[in-house]
Amino acid sequence: MKYNEFEIISNFFNKHQKIDKNLIKGIGDDTALIKIPKKNVLAISTDTLVEGTHFFKNIHPKNLAYKTIAVNLSDLAAMGALPKWMTLSITMPKVDSEWLKCFSQSFFQILNQYKITLIGGDTNCGPLSITPSVYGLIKGSKTLLRKNAKEGDLIYVTGYLGESAAGFFLLQKKKYPINIKVRNYLIRKHLNPTPRVSEGIILRNFANSAIDISDGLISDLGHILEESQCGADIELNKLPISKNLINNFKKNNYFNWSLYFGEDYELCFTISKKNIKKLNSAIKNKLIQCKHIGYITSKKRGFNLMQNKKKINFKKIGFNHFDVNNF
Ligand code: ADP
Ligand code: MG
Repeated sequence: MKYNEFEIISNFFNKHQKIDKNLIKGIGDDTALIKIPKKNVLAISTDTLVEGTHFFKNIHPKNLAYKTIAVNLSDLAAMGALPKWMTLSITMPKVDSEWLKCFSQSFFQILNQYKITLIGGDTNCGPLSITPSVYGLIKGSKTLLRKNAKEGDLIYVTGYLGESAAGFFLLQKKKYPINIKVRNYLIRKHLNPTPRVSEGIILRNFANSAIDISDGLISDLGHILEESQCGADIELNKLPISKNLINNFKKNNYFNWSLYFGEDYELCFTISKKNIKKLNSAIKNKLIQCKHIGYITSKKRGFNLMQNKKKINFKKIGFNHFDVNNF
């Protein structure tokens, strides 16, 4: 069946979702209209995903739908915002109704899971590319900015690092010897990373700064340091590396992956000593899982990777940017 632009919108994107009391007008007019509750700040983020650059040509539409939402929610998580609304601009080379059906079904399933309403978008013809924008609310005025790290802050990372990279690696190396359950788990971590939304909302109450790890710890923590005009010492042996990686891969691989690959969509945050009790109580109540990896220092000291309290040279021990052909 052939669809025109309007039929694509009405068949695949204008779906009934739960009534949202702040939404005055959703899909179907020239703009969407939202009422922002009093004493809230609106957080807005957008990320384009282009075929060949951000995802493989043959990606399953289900996985693309997931990634489209997850990468945007992760940015909101890093600000401590609660995601509420989304717009979706989609450009497709042709109308493939099976593909659209699968994409939109998964898309709405995930949106509903996070109680997010799709409020508009744009539909065009061209090389496959997807631009979601997400809108979230932050109660009060306390936000989690990259620029607020302070000398003496402790640096933490949620979850584990490097598992997404391992999953990516396993997708290329079909014959790599590894337990099938672990293989599938790691691939899922690559295809379906969990944006740390609830963790971000908690951290907003006591962390000083945060960023989501999309490009790798070195690069993303580097942004906090640049914005905050600080340095940092991080300890290689304290990186949160799971048994899945330790038991199945070489040290060099998983350290490289943890430091440089990214796409784990975990949060890296800094917190002052005086707030550690609050963090520990959140950890105890299983509201957040995170690991201490180092300290914020002076800008003059710079960004250092340490092993047993001694500075180590990144390059000397063979760390370099991720390249699947190196393995
Ligand atoms: P206009 O020409 O005024 O920009 P469009 O014809 O592009 O309007 O879109 C009509 C309505 O459908 C608008 O409310 C728009 O936000 C919505 N829309 C268009 N494409 C999508 C999409 N892919 N997903 C969700 N809503 C969409
Ligand atoms: Mg339009």
